[in-house]
Amino acid sequence: MTVILIENGAIITLDDVRHVYNPGYILLQDDRIAAVGSGAAPAELRARATEVIDASLMAVMPGMVNAHTHLFQTFIRGLADDKPLLDWLKAAIWPVAQALTEEDAYLAALLGLVENIRGGATSVIDHQYIHTEPGNDDGVFRAAEESGVRFLNARGWADMNYPPAFQETPERIEAEMRRLHDRWHGRANGRLRLEFGPLIPWGCSDATMRRTCALAAEWGVGTHVHVAETQAEVDMELASRGMRHIEWLHSLAALGPDVQLVHSVWLSDHELDLIERSGAVVVHCPVSNMYLASGVARVPEMYRRGIPVALATDGPGSNNNQDMMEVLKTTCLLHKVSSLNAMVLLPEDVLWMACRGGAAAFGQPDLIGSLEVGKKADVVLADLNTPLAMPVHKPVSALVYNLAARDVDTVIVDGRVLMRGKRILVVDEAALLDRARAACARLFARAGVVVD
Ligand SMILES: [Zn+2]
Repeated sequence: MTVILIENGAIITLDDVRHVYNPGYILLQDDRIAAVGSGAAPAELRARATEVIDASLMAVMPGMVNAHTHLFQTFIRGLADDKPLLDWLKAAIWPVAQALTEEDAYLAALLGLVENIRGGATSVIDHQYIHTEPGNDDGVFRAAEESGVRFLNARGWADMNYPPAFQETPERIEAEMRRLHDRWHGRANGRLRLEFGPLIPWGCSDATMRRTCALAAEWGVGTHVHVAETQAEVDMELASRGMRHIEWLHSLAALGPDVQLVHSVWLSDHELDLIERSGAVVVHCPVSNMYLASGVARVPEMYRRGIPVALATDGPGSNNNQDMMEVLKTTCLLHKVSSLNAMVLLPEDVLWMACRGGAAAFGQPDLIGSLEVGKKADVVLADLNTPLAMPVHKPVSALVYNLAARDVDTVIVDGRVLMRGKRILVVDEAALLDRARAACARLFARAGVVVD
């Protein structure tokens, strides 16, 4: 049995009353949190520990959930910067993705997951929609298994209006989902899971959407979908279906607490009402929305209405990183400047979104998202003792406004230490970078992409 005692840190619990124990301790027993408290750890807990981590001058927080990414894009980042969404898809994403192999999918995912660990994310939802080789999803799952990260593959699909290389028939979508569900769902002590990932309203037919939502309900899994990212996409749906994006989901009875609405930038008041009533989770990607000039989601309003809001980086192609620490600060700043209200979101609020909102998006609000007894042992330690943060008057403020991925020191998932002292323990990081660099060069050569 592994029993890890973390002591002397500023324990940011994110429990329902948002306790911060400074200093405090936390005891991890195998994959669960066994004790959390203020001050010094009681002697009987110390006696049980097989490993003690001294978290003096560190923040100890729940692992964040990166609630939306496309890990394959790790290989594409920086290739076509400074374009709006639809131009960016055509110029960069589609040509390269068409040539992606299972090995590329594996390496790009592993690289992206290591970056997620370094940014303090312990759970990741990958909206994986590149099925150019049947094994791509298996490659991504293999990477997730090796990385130690808690992982949800929202297997993407489109059955209309999409480049033929990425479009699938309803039969193939269902057959692949059944195969992946049998092979991967619930593996690695429940760390790996699968859900449906209809890509985008304008790429999904009503009939297939109804079918996959029925299967999701039958299997007890969620549905993850891009909605209302840009104004142009809303206009496209108004022209073709006569409905806005959330109205369309509502018309199919597809909204519910197990649905993650990614982006949700261009929403009407009526759509906000529909989301609020349904219990669906909004996934906010502020860096991506700014990078692609998509717009500003009405996040403070959603948060005040009690709509669960999760945070995410989006794919590395539109960010260009997987840094959830950067997302924390960016979320605060974006909404302050766009509302001209410095109080509109506070550090406590964005941390809540990244952890508790993320846990809701991940479909496991009772298992992850806070440091509470009985929850999974997913913990992040970040260094407060740096010239970039000292002196620390309020740990939560320092975490959001001062710290960055460079300060994430230790990452634990399911009771296993994935990174310690800023050193990745799960893979040979230098060898991975070399393999990824070589694979990416081969991929671009096959795709005929020349970087000018
Ligand atoms: Zn996306």
